[in-house]
Amino acid sequence: MVTVLFFVLLFFVFCTLNNFYIENIKRSLMAEAFFISSSVKLALDSGRYQEVQNIAAVFRSRFSRGLTIVDGQGNKIISSGEIKLNGLPLGDILKGKNYAENDVVRIMVFREFRASVPVILENGAVLAVVVGLLPVDVAKIISINLLFVVFTFSGVLFSTFMWKKTRFLIKPLETMVDVTRNFAQGNFARTVHVNSQNEIGQLSRELNLLARRLRITLEEKEEGKMLMSELMKSLEDGVVVVDVETRIVFINASACQLVGADSKGAEGKKLISVIRHYELDEAVKEAINRGTPNYKEITLLPRDKTLKVRIAPCRDKEGKISGCIIVMKDLTEIKHIEKMRTDFIANVSHELRTPLTSIRGFIETLMDGAYKDPTLAKRFLRIIEKEVGRLCRLIDNMLDLSRIETNQLRLNIKDVSAGEIIKEVILIFDNRLREKDLTYYENVPEGLPKVKADPDWLRQIFVNLMDNAIKYTPSGGKIWIEAEPKGDVVEFRVCDTGIGIPEEDLPRIFERFYRVDKTRSAGSGGSGLGLAIVKHLVRAFGGDIWVESKVNQGSKFIFTLKKFSKS
Ligand code: ADP
Repeated sequence: MVTVLFFVLLFFVFCTLNNFYIENIKRSLMAEAFFISSSVKLALDSGRYQEVQNIAAVFRSRFSRGLTIVDGQGNKIISSGEIKLNGLPLGDILKGKNYAENDVVRIMVFREFRASVPVILENGAVLAVVVGLLPVDVAKIISINLLFVVFTFSGVLFSTFMWKKTRFLIKPLETMVDVTRNFAQGNFARTVHVNSQNEIGQLSRELNLLARRLRITLEEKEEGKMLMSELMKSLEDGVVVVDVETRIVFINASACQLVGADSKGAEGKKLISVIRHYELDEAVKEAINRGTPNYKEITLLPRDKTLKVRIAPCRDKEGKISGCIIVMKDLTEIKHIEKMRTDFIANVSHELRTPLTSIRGFIETLMDGAYKDPTLAKRFLRIIEKEVGRLCRLIDNMLDLSRIETNQLRLNIKDVSAGEIIKEVILIFDNRLREKDLTYYENVPEGLPKVKADPDWLRQIFVNLMDNAIKYTPSGGKIWIEAEPKGDVVEFRVCDTGIGIPEEDLPRIFERFYRVDKTRSAGSGGSGLGLAIVKHLVRAFGGDIWVESKVNQGSKFIFTLKKFSKS
Protein backbone atom coordinates (compact mmCIF):
# COMPACT_ATOMS: atom_id res chain seq x y z
CA MET A 1 0.00 0.00 0.00
CA VAL A 2 2.76 2.40 1.03
CA THR A 3 4.80 1.40 -2.04
CA VAL A 4 1.88 2.03 -4.40
CA LEU A 5 1.20 5.38 -2.77
CA PHE A 6 4.87 6.24 -3.00
CA PHE A 7 4.92 5.24 -6.65
CA VAL A 8 1.78 7.31 -7.47
CA LEU A 9 3.22 10.25 -5.60
CA LEU A 10 6.52 10.07 -7.46
CA PHE A 11 4.73 9.70 -10.79
CA PHE A 12 2.57 12.68 -9.97
CA VAL A 13 5.63 14.74 -8.97
CA PHE A 14 7.44 13.62 -12.10
CA CYS A 15 4.50 14.57 -14.38
CA THR A 16 4.03 17.93 -12.68
CA LEU A 17 7.71 18.86 -12.86
CA ASN A 18 8.01 17.59 -16.45
CA ASN A 19 4.92 19.49 -17.54
CA PHE A 20 6.20 22.61 -15.86
CA TYR A 21 9.59 22.21 -17.53
CA ILE A 22 8.15 21.50 -20.99
CA GLU A 23 5.59 24.28 -20.61
CA ASN A 24 8.40 26.70 -19.74
CA ILE A 25 10.44 25.70 -22.80
CA LYS A 26 7.30 25.95 -24.92
CA ARG A 27 6.57 29.45 -23.65
CA SER A 28 10.12 30.65 -24.19
CA LEU A 29 10.15 29.08 -27.70
CA MET A 30 6.89 30.88 -28.43
CA ALA A 31 8.26 34.20 -27.13
CA GLU A 32 11.41 33.74 -29.14
CA ALA A 33 9.34 32.92 -32.25
CA PHE A 34 7.30 36.11 -31.77
CA PHE A 35 10.45 38.14 -31.24
CA ILE A 36 12.11 36.64 -34.37
CA SER A 37 8.94 37.11 -36.43
CA SER A 38 8.69 40.80 -35.53
CA SER A 39 12.43 41.29 -36.19
CA VAL A 40 12.10 39.46 -39.56
CA LYS A 41 9.01 41.51 -40.46
CA LEU A 42 10.84 44.78 -39.69
CA ALA A 43 13.89 43.72 -41.73
CA LEU A 44 11.97 42.41 -44.73
CA ASP A 45 9.45 45.31 -44.83
CA SER A 46 12.46 47.65 -44.93
CA GLY A 47 14.15 45.51 -47.61
CA ARG A 48 17.06 44.50 -45.40
CA TYR A 49 17.31 40.87 -46.48
CA GLN A 50 20.86 40.48 -45.21
CA GLU A 51 19.69 41.34 -41.65
CA VAL A 52 17.45 38.27 -41.64
CA GLN A 53 20.54 36.10 -42.21
CA ASN A 54 22.24 37.85 -39.29
CA ILE A 55 19.29 37.34 -37.01
CA ALA A 56 19.38 33.58 -37.77
CA ALA A 57 23.12 33.41 -37.13
CA VAL A 58 22.90 35.35 -33.83
CA PHE A 59 19.91 33.28 -32.74
CA ARG A 60 21.80 30.10 -33.45
CA SER A 61 25.00 31.14 -31.69
CA ARG A 62 23.60 33.17 -28.75
CA PHE A 63 20.36 31.31 -27.89
CA SER A 64 21.42 27.78 -29.02
CA ARG A 65 18.17 27.47 -30.94
CA GLY A 66 17.48 26.41 -34.48
CA LEU A 67 15.58 28.80 -36.80
CA THR A 68 13.87 28.08 -40.11
CA ILE A 69 11.87 30.59 -42.15
CA VAL A 70 9.46 29.14 -44.68
CA ASP A 71 7.76 31.06 -47.50
CA GLY A 72 4.13 30.77 -48.57
CA GLN A 73 4.91 27.78 -50.79
CA GLY A 74 6.60 25.84 -48.03
CA ASN A 75 10.17 26.49 -49.19
CA LYS A 76 12.88 27.12 -46.61
CA ILE A 77 14.20 30.67 -47.06
CA ILE A 78 16.55 30.48 -44.09
CA SER A 79 17.51 27.40 -42.11
CA SER A 80 19.93 27.08 -39.20
CA GLY A 81 20.24 24.40 -36.57
CA GLU A 82 18.73 21.49 -38.56
CA ILE A 83 15.10 22.16 -37.61
CA LYS A 84 12.91 19.65 -39.42
CA LEU A 85 9.54 20.69 -40.73
CA ASN A 86 7.80 17.30 -40.81
CA GLY A 87 4.67 17.12 -38.81
CA LEU A 88 4.26 20.91 -38.69
CA PRO A 89 0.78 22.19 -39.73
CA LEU A 90 2.41 24.70 -42.14
CA GLY A 91 -0.88 25.35 -43.96
CA ASP A 92 -2.55 26.53 -40.75
CA ILE A 93 0.49 28.59 -39.68
CA LEU A 94 0.64 30.35 -43.04
CA LYS A 95 -3.03 31.12 -42.66
CA GLY A 96 -2.17 33.02 -39.46
CA LYS A 97 -2.24 30.39 -36.65
CA ASN A 98 0.49 29.96 -34.00
CA TYR A 99 1.89 26.52 -33.25
CA ALA A 100 3.77 25.08 -30.30
CA GLU A 101 4.88 21.48 -29.85
CA ASN A 102 2.49 19.91 -27.32
CA ASP A 103 2.87 16.17 -27.56
CA VAL A 104 5.51 14.94 -25.05
CA VAL A 105 5.71 11.53 -26.72
CA ARG A 106 6.44 13.19 -30.05
CA ILE A 107 9.16 15.31 -28.41
CA MET A 108 10.69 12.16 -26.93
CA VAL A 109 10.35 9.94 -30.02
CA PHE A 110 11.19 12.44 -32.82
CA ARG A 111 13.39 14.60 -30.67
CA GLU A 112 11.73 17.69 -32.00
CA PHE A 113 10.61 20.64 -29.91
CA ARG A 114 9.39 23.54 -32.00
CA ALA A 115 7.22 26.65 -31.99
CA SER A 116 6.06 28.50 -35.08
CA VAL A 117 4.33 31.83 -35.73
CA PRO A 118 3.32 33.43 -39.06
CA VAL A 119 4.98 36.68 -40.40
CA ILE A 120 2.61 38.75 -42.49
CA LEU A 121 4.62 41.23 -44.58
CA GLU A 122 3.38 44.59 -45.81
CA ASN A 123 3.28 43.31 -49.38
CA GLY A 124 0.80 40.62 -48.27
CA ALA A 125 3.24 37.74 -48.42
CA VAL A 126 3.04 35.31 -45.49
CA LEU A 127 6.05 33.53 -44.04
CA ALA A 128 6.34 31.05 -41.21
CA VAL A 129 9.06 31.46 -38.51
CA VAL A 130 9.88 28.08 -36.95
CA VAL A 131 12.00 28.16 -33.77
CA GLY A 132 13.17 24.87 -32.22
CA LEU A 133 15.50 23.36 -29.72
CA LEU A 134 18.68 21.97 -31.16
CA PRO A 135 18.62 18.10 -31.25
CA VAL A 136 21.36 18.06 -28.59
CA ASP A 137 19.15 20.06 -26.17
CA VAL A 138 16.14 17.80 -26.83
CA ALA A 139 18.43 14.87 -26.05
CA LYS A 140 19.26 16.55 -22.73
CA ILE A 141 15.53 16.87 -21.87
CA ILE A 142 15.05 13.20 -22.74
CA SER A 143 17.96 12.15 -20.56
CA ILE A 144 16.61 14.26 -17.65
CA ASN A 145 13.25 12.52 -18.08
CA LEU A 146 14.89 9.12 -18.25
CA LEU A 147 16.87 9.95 -15.15
CA PHE A 148 13.67 10.88 -13.44
CA VAL A 149 11.98 7.63 -14.45
CA VAL A 150 14.98 5.62 -13.30
CA PHE A 151 15.04 7.54 -10.06
CA THR A 152 11.30 6.95 -9.55
CA PHE A 153 11.57 3.21 -10.16
CA SER A 154 14.65 2.93 -8.00
CA GLY A 155 12.72 4.77 -5.29
CA VAL A 156 9.80 2.38 -5.65
CA LEU A 157 12.10 -0.63 -5.62
CA PHE A 158 14.01 0.74 -2.65
CA SER A 159 10.85 1.47 -0.68
CA THR A 160 9.49 -2.03 -1.52
CA PHE A 161 12.75 -3.55 -0.35
CA MET A 162 12.76 -1.40 2.79
CA TRP A 163 9.17 -2.31 3.48
CA LYS A 164 9.97 -6.01 3.18
CA LYS A 165 13.03 -5.54 5.33
CA THR A 166 11.18 -3.56 8.02
CA ARG A 167 8.25 -6.05 7.92
CA PHE A 168 10.74 -8.73 8.78
CA LEU A 169 11.97 -6.63 11.70
CA ILE A 170 8.65 -5.12 12.76
CA LYS A 171 6.59 -8.34 12.78
CA PRO A 172 8.43 -9.94 15.73
CA LEU A 173 8.53 -6.55 17.47
CA GLU A 174 4.75 -6.31 17.11
CA THR A 175 4.39 -9.83 18.53
CA MET A 176 6.69 -8.86 21.39
CA VAL A 177 4.57 -5.79 22.19
CA ASP A 178 1.49 -8.01 22.16
CA VAL A 179 3.11 -10.63 24.37
CA THR A 180 4.40 -8.04 26.88
CA ARG A 181 0.86 -6.63 27.02
CA ASN A 182 -0.23 -10.17 27.96
CA PHE A 183 2.51 -10.26 30.62
CA ALA A 184 1.16 -7.01 32.07
CA GLN A 185 -2.25 -8.71 32.38
CA GLY A 186 -0.63 -11.63 34.21
CA ASN A 187 -0.78 -14.10 31.30
CA PHE A 188 2.63 -15.69 30.85
CA ALA A 189 1.52 -18.61 28.70
CA ARG A 190 2.26 -16.87 25.36
CA THR A 191 5.81 -16.84 23.99
CA VAL A 192 7.56 -15.21 21.03
CA HIS A 193 9.07 -17.43 18.31
CA VAL A 194 11.87 -15.74 16.36
CA ASN A 195 14.53 -18.06 15.00
CA SER A 196 16.93 -15.40 13.76
CA GLN A 197 20.29 -14.96 15.45
CA ASN A 198 20.17 -11.15 15.35
CA GLU A 199 19.38 -8.82 18.26
CA ILE A 200 15.62 -9.28 17.80
CA GLY A 201 15.97 -13.05 18.01
CA GLN A 202 18.07 -12.64 21.13
CA LEU A 203 15.56 -10.18 22.60
CA SER A 204 12.70 -12.63 21.98
CA ARG A 205 14.60 -15.44 23.71
CA GLU A 206 15.34 -13.17 26.68
CA LEU A 207 11.67 -12.20 26.78
CA ASN A 208 10.61 -15.87 26.85
CA LEU A 209 13.11 -16.55 29.63
CA LEU A 210 11.82 -13.56 31.58
CA ALA A 211 8.23 -14.80 31.14
CA ARG A 212 9.18 -18.28 32.40
CA ARG A 213 10.97 -16.87 35.44
CA LEU A 214 8.10 -14.51 36.19
CA ARG A 215 5.63 -17.37 35.84
CA ILE A 216 7.64 -19.56 38.22
CA THR A 217 8.02 -16.67 40.71
CA LEU A 218 4.31 -15.90 40.53
CA GLU A 219 3.39 -19.57 40.89
CA GLU A 220 5.69 -19.86 43.90
CA LYS A 221 4.15 -16.70 45.36
CA GLU A 222 0.65 -18.03 44.70
CA GLU A 223 1.56 -21.37 46.29
CA GLY A 224 3.01 -19.52 49.27
CA LYS A 225 -0.16 -17.47 49.57
CA MET A 226 -2.34 -20.60 49.39
CA LEU A 227 -0.16 -22.36 51.95
CA MET A 228 -0.39 -19.32 54.21
CA SER A 229 -4.16 -19.14 53.83
CA GLU A 230 -4.49 -22.91 54.51
CA LEU A 231 -2.22 -22.51 57.52
CA MET A 232 -4.29 -19.59 58.80
CA LYS A 233 -7.48 -21.61 58.26
CA SER A 234 -6.12 -24.61 60.14
CA LEU A 235 -4.83 -22.50 63.06
CA GLU A 236 -6.75 -22.98 66.26
CA ASP A 237 -5.72 -19.51 67.36
CA GLY A 238 -7.65 -16.57 66.00
CA VAL A 239 -5.59 -14.23 63.80
CA VAL A 240 -6.70 -10.72 62.82
CA VAL A 241 -4.61 -8.24 60.84
CA VAL A 242 -5.61 -4.56 61.02
CA ASP A 243 -4.24 -1.42 59.36
CA VAL A 244 -3.22 1.78 61.19
CA GLU A 245 -6.85 2.88 61.27
CA THR A 246 -7.78 -0.42 62.98
CA ARG A 247 -9.62 -1.52 59.83
CA ILE A 248 -9.59 -5.34 59.40
CA VAL A 249 -7.32 -6.45 56.54
CA PHE A 250 -7.49 -10.18 57.29
CA ILE A 251 -9.38 -12.37 59.74
CA ASN A 252 -9.16 -16.17 59.90
CA ALA A 253 -12.01 -18.62 60.51
CA SER A 254 -10.96 -19.33 64.12
CA ALA A 255 -11.04 -15.62 64.98
CA CYS A 256 -14.52 -15.30 63.45
CA GLN A 257 -15.67 -18.30 65.47
CA LEU A 258 -14.12 -16.98 68.71
CA VAL A 259 -15.67 -13.53 68.45
CA GLY A 260 -18.90 -14.77 66.83
CA ALA A 261 -18.39 -12.73 63.64
CA ASP A 262 -19.45 -13.52 60.10
CA SER A 263 -16.37 -14.57 58.11
CA LYS A 264 -17.72 -12.83 55.01
CA GLY A 265 -17.85 -9.07 55.11
CA ALA A 266 -15.68 -8.66 58.23
CA GLU A 267 -12.70 -7.56 56.19
CA GLY A 268 -12.67 -3.83 55.57
CA LYS A 269 -14.73 -3.09 58.68
CA LYS A 270 -13.45 -1.35 61.82
CA LEU A 271 -12.22 -3.76 64.52
CA ILE A 272 -14.58 -2.33 67.14
CA SER A 273 -17.62 -3.00 64.92
CA VAL A 274 -16.67 -6.70 64.54
CA ILE A 275 -15.20 -7.44 68.00
CA ARG A 276 -17.29 -5.27 70.25
CA HIS A 277 -14.68 -4.90 72.97
CA TYR A 278 -13.63 -1.37 73.92
CA GLU A 279 -10.57 -2.49 75.94
CA LEU A 280 -9.20 -4.59 73.06
CA ASP A 281 -9.72 -1.73 70.61
CA GLU A 282 -7.84 0.64 72.93
CA ALA A 283 -5.01 -1.90 73.38
CA VAL A 284 -4.67 -2.22 69.58
CA LYS A 285 -4.57 1.57 69.15
CA GLU A 286 -1.97 1.80 71.91
CA ALA A 287 0.22 -0.84 70.22
CA ILE A 288 -0.01 1.06 66.91
CA ASN A 289 0.81 4.41 68.52
CA ARG A 290 3.67 3.11 70.66
CA GLY A 291 5.01 0.57 68.16
CA THR A 292 5.43 -2.01 70.92
CA PRO A 293 3.57 -5.30 71.50
CA ASN A 294 0.66 -5.40 73.90
CA TYR A 295 -0.88 -8.29 75.84
CA LYS A 296 -4.39 -8.55 77.20
CA GLU A 297 -6.75 -11.06 78.71
CA ILE A 298 -10.32 -10.25 77.76
CA THR A 299 -13.72 -11.76 78.38
CA LEU A 300 -16.20 -11.64 75.54
CA LEU A 301 -19.84 -11.42 76.54
CA PRO A 302 -22.45 -12.83 76.18
CA ARG A 303 -20.60 -16.02 75.12
CA ASP A 304 -18.46 -15.76 78.25
CA LYS A 305 -15.25 -16.53 76.39
CA THR A 306 -11.90 -15.77 77.95
CA LEU A 307 -9.26 -14.86 75.38
CA LYS A 308 -5.56 -14.23 75.77
CA VAL A 309 -4.67 -11.62 73.16
CA ARG A 310 -1.23 -10.72 71.79
CA ILE A 311 -1.08 -7.55 69.73
CA ALA A 312 2.11 -7.13 67.68
CA PRO A 313 2.62 -4.03 65.52
CA CYS A 314 3.87 -4.68 61.97
CA ARG A 315 5.99 -2.37 59.86
CA ASP A 316 6.35 -1.70 56.14
CA LYS A 317 9.64 -1.69 54.15
CA GLU A 318 10.48 1.82 55.31
CA GLY A 319 10.02 0.81 58.92
CA LYS A 320 6.76 2.72 59.38
CA ILE A 321 3.95 1.06 61.40
CA SER A 322 1.45 -0.31 58.88
CA GLY A 323 -0.95 -1.95 61.32
CA CYS A 324 -0.81 -4.87 63.71
CA ILE A 325 -1.40 -8.59 64.04
CA ILE A 326 -3.75 -9.73 66.77
CA VAL A 327 -3.42 -13.36 67.89
CA MET A 328 -6.19 -14.67 70.12
CA LYS A 329 -5.92 -17.81 72.23
CA ASP A 330 -9.07 -19.32 73.69
CA LEU A 331 -8.54 -19.77 77.42
CA THR A 332 -12.18 -20.66 78.18
CA GLU A 333 -11.50 -24.40 78.43
CA ILE A 334 -8.29 -23.93 80.45
CA LYS A 335 -10.09 -21.51 82.77
CA HIS A 336 -12.91 -24.02 83.14
CA ILE A 337 -10.46 -26.83 83.97
CA GLU A 338 -8.63 -24.55 86.41
CA LYS A 339 -11.92 -23.72 88.11
CA MET A 340 -12.85 -27.40 88.23
CA ARG A 341 -9.50 -28.18 89.82
CA THR A 342 -9.81 -25.50 92.52
CA ASP A 343 -13.45 -26.48 93.10
CA PHE A 344 -12.38 -30.12 93.38
CA ILE A 345 -9.67 -29.32 95.95
CA ALA A 346 -12.11 -27.14 97.90
CA ASN A 347 -14.76 -29.86 97.77
CA VAL A 348 -12.40 -32.68 98.78
CA SER A 349 -11.00 -30.56 101.62
CA HIS A 350 -14.50 -29.78 102.76
CA GLU A 351 -15.62 -33.42 102.53
CA LEU A 352 -12.59 -34.56 104.48
CA ARG A 353 -12.75 -31.82 107.06
CA THR A 354 -16.28 -32.65 108.30
CA PRO A 355 -15.59 -36.27 109.40
CA LEU A 356 -12.04 -35.41 110.53
CA THR A 357 -13.28 -32.53 112.73
CA SER A 358 -15.85 -34.85 114.23
CA ILE A 359 -13.23 -37.61 114.85
CA ARG A 360 -10.83 -35.10 116.38
CA GLY A 361 -13.57 -33.72 118.67
CA PHE A 362 -14.49 -37.17 120.01
CA ILE A 363 -10.83 -38.18 120.50
CA GLU A 364 -10.20 -34.96 122.48
CA THR A 365 -13.31 -35.58 124.61
CA LEU A 366 -12.16 -39.16 125.26
CA MET A 367 -8.67 -37.99 126.21
CA ASP A 368 -10.15 -35.33 128.51
CA GLY A 369 -11.55 -38.19 130.62
CA ALA A 370 -14.54 -39.57 128.81
CA TYR A 371 -12.62 -42.84 128.28
CA LYS A 372 -13.13 -43.52 132.01
CA ASP A 373 -16.86 -43.94 131.39
CA PRO A 374 -17.08 -47.20 129.36
CA THR A 375 -20.60 -46.53 128.06
CA LEU A 376 -19.72 -43.04 126.87
CA ALA A 377 -16.38 -44.22 125.46
CA LYS A 378 -18.12 -46.99 123.53
CA ARG A 379 -20.63 -44.49 122.02
CA PHE A 380 -17.89 -42.09 121.03
CA LEU A 381 -15.83 -44.86 119.49
CA ARG A 382 -18.84 -45.98 117.42
CA ILE A 383 -19.25 -42.43 116.11
CA ILE A 384 -15.55 -42.36 115.30
CA GLU A 385 -15.86 -45.70 113.50
CA LYS A 386 -18.83 -44.33 111.48
CA GLU A 387 -16.87 -41.23 110.48
CA VAL A 388 -13.85 -43.31 109.50
CA GLY A 389 -16.19 -45.49 107.41
CA ARG A 390 -17.49 -42.33 105.77
CA LEU A 391 -13.91 -41.22 105.03
CA CYS A 392 -13.10 -44.61 103.53
CA ARG A 393 -16.22 -44.53 101.36
CA LEU A 394 -15.31 -41.05 100.19
CA ILE A 395 -11.80 -42.11 99.27
CA ASP A 396 -13.06 -45.29 97.58
CA ASN A 397 -15.58 -43.27 95.58
CA MET A 398 -12.91 -40.78 94.57
CA LEU A 399 -10.60 -43.55 93.45
CA ASP A 400 -13.40 -45.26 91.50
CA LEU A 401 -14.35 -42.02 89.78
CA SER A 402 -10.77 -41.23 88.95
CA ARG A 403 -10.28 -44.73 87.50
CA ILE A 404 -13.44 -44.48 85.42
CA GLU A 405 -12.56 -40.98 84.16
CA THR A 406 -9.01 -41.94 83.20
CA ASN A 407 -10.13 -45.24 81.60
CA GLN A 408 -8.03 -47.19 84.08
CA LEU A 409 -10.97 -49.30 85.15
CA ARG A 410 -10.90 -52.72 83.50
CA LEU A 411 -14.51 -53.27 82.54
CA ASN A 412 -15.67 -56.78 81.94
CA ILE A 413 -18.48 -56.03 79.53
CA LYS A 414 -20.68 -58.99 78.69
CA ASP A 415 -24.34 -60.01 78.34
CA VAL A 416 -25.98 -59.27 81.64
CA SER A 417 -29.43 -60.11 82.89
CA ALA A 418 -30.35 -56.78 84.53
CA GLY A 419 -33.49 -58.26 86.18
CA GLU A 420 -31.37 -60.60 88.34
CA ILE A 421 -29.03 -57.79 89.36
CA ILE A 422 -31.99 -55.60 90.40
CA LYS A 423 -33.29 -58.47 92.60
CA GLU A 424 -29.87 -58.84 94.30
CA VAL A 425 -29.67 -55.09 94.96
CA ILE A 426 -33.16 -54.95 96.52
CA LEU A 427 -32.09 -57.63 99.00
CA ILE A 428 -29.30 -55.31 100.22
CA PHE A 429 -31.81 -52.52 100.86
CA ASP A 430 -34.55 -54.68 102.29
CA ASN A 431 -33.86 -53.65 105.91
CA ARG A 432 -33.56 -49.95 105.18
CA LEU A 433 -36.80 -49.97 103.16
CA ARG A 434 -38.60 -51.51 106.03
CA GLU A 435 -36.96 -49.23 108.62
CA LYS A 436 -38.14 -46.15 106.69
CA ASP A 437 -41.55 -47.66 105.95
CA LEU A 438 -41.08 -47.35 102.20
CA THR A 439 -43.08 -49.33 99.68
CA TYR A 440 -40.98 -50.93 96.98
CA TYR A 441 -42.12 -52.62 93.79
CA GLU A 442 -40.70 -53.28 90.35
CA ASN A 443 -41.96 -53.29 86.82
CA VAL A 444 -39.43 -55.46 85.03
CA PRO A 445 -40.93 -57.65 82.26
CA GLU A 446 -40.19 -61.38 82.12
CA GLY A 447 -37.63 -62.21 79.46
CA LEU A 448 -36.09 -58.70 79.48
CA PRO A 449 -33.31 -58.69 76.86
CA LYS A 450 -29.82 -58.95 78.20
CA VAL A 451 -27.75 -55.77 78.12
CA LYS A 452 -24.09 -54.95 77.46
CA ALA A 453 -22.52 -54.12 80.82
CA ASP A 454 -20.02 -55.08 83.50
CA PRO A 455 -22.25 -56.91 86.07
CA ASP A 456 -20.37 -55.66 89.16
CA TRP A 457 -20.49 -52.04 88.06
CA LEU A 458 -24.10 -52.32 86.89
CA ARG A 459 -24.90 -53.46 90.43
CA GLN A 460 -23.07 -50.34 91.68
CA ILE A 461 -25.28 -48.14 89.46
CA PHE A 462 -28.47 -49.59 90.95
CA VAL A 463 -27.01 -49.42 94.47
CA ASN A 464 -26.16 -45.70 94.13
CA LEU A 465 -29.58 -44.84 92.62
CA MET A 466 -31.53 -46.94 95.17
CA ASP A 467 -29.43 -45.48 98.03
CA ASN A 468 -30.37 -41.94 96.91
CA ALA A 469 -34.03 -42.88 96.42
CA ILE A 470 -34.20 -44.22 100.00
CA LYS A 471 -32.21 -41.26 101.38
CA TYR A 472 -34.35 -38.58 99.74
CA THR A 473 -37.80 -40.16 100.15
CA PRO A 474 -39.58 -39.50 103.44
CA SER A 475 -41.22 -42.38 105.37
CA GLY A 476 -44.36 -43.75 103.85
CA GLY A 477 -43.18 -43.00 100.31
CA LYS A 478 -42.88 -45.29 97.34
CA ILE A 479 -39.85 -46.49 95.38
CA TRP A 480 -39.97 -48.57 92.22
CA ILE A 481 -37.77 -49.74 89.37
CA GLU A 482 -38.92 -50.05 85.76
CA ALA A 483 -37.27 -51.65 82.75
CA GLU A 484 -38.48 -51.40 79.16
CA PRO A 485 -36.90 -52.49 75.87
CA LYS A 486 -36.86 -49.59 73.37
CA GLY A 487 -35.37 -50.23 69.91
CA ASP A 488 -31.81 -51.43 70.33
CA VAL A 489 -31.63 -50.32 73.98
CA VAL A 490 -33.26 -51.19 77.30
CA GLU A 491 -34.46 -48.21 79.34
CA PHE A 492 -34.20 -48.45 83.17
CA ARG A 493 -35.99 -46.06 85.52
CA VAL A 494 -35.32 -45.75 89.27
CA CYS A 495 -38.27 -43.76 90.62
CA ASP A 496 -39.36 -42.37 93.96
CA THR A 497 -42.00 -40.13 95.48
CA GLY A 498 -39.35 -38.21 97.47
CA ILE A 499 -38.40 -34.58 97.97
CA GLY A 500 -37.46 -34.09 94.29
CA ILE A 501 -34.86 -31.78 92.78
CA PRO A 502 -35.45 -28.10 91.90
CA GLU A 503 -35.42 -27.41 88.13
CA GLU A 504 -32.40 -25.07 88.32
CA ASP A 505 -30.29 -27.84 89.92
CA LEU A 506 -31.13 -30.54 87.35
CA PRO A 507 -28.42 -29.64 84.81
CA ARG A 508 -25.66 -29.89 87.45
CA ILE A 509 -26.91 -32.90 89.39
CA PHE A 510 -24.38 -35.32 87.85
CA GLU A 511 -21.36 -33.08 88.67
CA ARG A 512 -18.87 -34.24 91.26
CA PHE A 513 -19.66 -33.07 94.81
CA TYR A 514 -22.77 -31.27 93.61
CA ARG A 515 -25.51 -31.27 96.16
CA VAL A 516 -28.87 -29.59 95.85
CA ASP A 517 -28.86 -28.35 99.36
CA LYS A 518 -25.80 -28.98 101.48
CA THR A 519 -27.85 -29.00 104.69
CA ARG A 520 -30.45 -31.51 103.51
CA SER A 521 -27.89 -34.09 102.33
CA ALA A 522 -25.13 -33.44 104.87
CA GLY A 523 -26.71 -35.72 107.39
CA SER A 524 -27.34 -38.39 104.82
CA GLY A 525 -23.69 -39.40 104.86
CA GLY A 526 -23.35 -39.13 101.08
CA SER A 527 -20.12 -38.09 99.45
CA GLY A 528 -21.69 -36.16 96.55
CA LEU A 529 -19.95 -38.51 94.12
CA GLY A 530 -22.64 -41.17 93.74
CA LEU A 531 -24.37 -39.70 90.66
CA ALA A 532 -21.05 -38.70 89.04
CA ILE A 533 -19.96 -42.36 89.29
CA VAL A 534 -23.30 -43.53 87.85
CA LYS A 535 -23.07 -41.12 84.89
CA HIS A 536 -19.51 -42.17 84.01
CA LEU A 537 -20.34 -45.88 84.28
CA VAL A 538 -23.44 -45.60 82.05
CA ARG A 539 -21.40 -43.67 79.47
CA ALA A 540 -18.60 -46.29 79.69
CA PHE A 541 -21.21 -48.97 78.81
CA GLY A 542 -22.26 -46.89 75.77
CA GLY A 543 -25.55 -45.71 77.28
CA ASP A 544 -27.09 -42.40 78.31
CA ILE A 545 -28.54 -41.02 81.56
CA TRP A 546 -30.86 -38.17 82.53
CA VAL A 547 -33.24 -37.17 85.29
CA GLU A 548 -36.83 -36.02 85.53
CA SER A 549 -37.86 -34.52 88.86
CA LYS A 550 -40.34 -32.23 90.56
CA VAL A 551 -39.91 -30.79 94.06
CA ASN A 552 -41.99 -32.65 96.64
CA GLN A 553 -43.38 -35.01 93.99
CA GLY A 554 -40.43 -37.29 93.37
CA SER A 555 -37.62 -38.11 90.94
CA LYS A 556 -36.99 -40.50 88.04
CA PHE A 557 -33.42 -41.41 87.18
CA ILE A 558 -33.54 -42.87 83.67
CA PHE A 559 -30.68 -44.59 81.88
CA THR A 560 -30.31 -46.70 78.77
CA LEU A 561 -28.05 -49.65 78.04
CA LYS A 562 -27.44 -51.30 74.69
CA LYS A 563 -29.14 -54.65 74.13
CA PHE A 564 -26.73 -57.53 73.86
CA SER A 565 -26.34 -58.64 70.24
CA LYS A 566 -24.98 -62.12 69.46
CA SER A 567 -22.78 -60.78 66.63
P1 ADP B 1 -24.94 -37.73 97.67
O1 ADP B 1 -23.91 -38.64 98.19
O2 ADP B 1 -24.92 -36.38 98.28
O3 ADP B 1 -26.27 -38.35 97.63
P2 ADP B 1 -25.09 -37.96 94.87
O4 ADP B 1 -24.11 -37.68 93.81
O5 ADP B 1 -25.55 -39.36 94.94
O6 ADP B 1 -24.46 -37.47 96.21
O7 ADP B 1 -26.31 -37.01 94.67
C1 ADP B 1 -26.09 -35.65 94.44
C2 ADP B 1 -27.24 -34.83 94.97
O8 ADP B 1 -28.38 -35.05 94.16
C3 ADP B 1 -27.67 -35.17 96.32
O9 ADP B 1 -26.92 -34.50 97.30
C4 ADP B 1 -29.12 -34.78 96.34
O10 ADP B 1 -29.22 -33.41 96.66
C5 ADP B 1 -29.54 -34.99 94.93
N1 ADP B 1 -30.28 -36.26 94.73
C6 ADP B 1 -29.77 -37.43 94.27
N2 ADP B 1 -30.74 -38.38 94.19
C7 ADP B 1 -31.88 -37.80 94.57
C8 ADP B 1 -33.24 -38.25 94.71
N3 ADP B 1 -33.59 -39.48 94.40
N4 ADP B 1 -34.15 -37.36 95.15
C9 ADP B 1 -33.81 -36.11 95.46
N5 ADP B 1 -32.56 -35.62 95.38
C10 ADP B 1 -31.62 -36.45 94.94
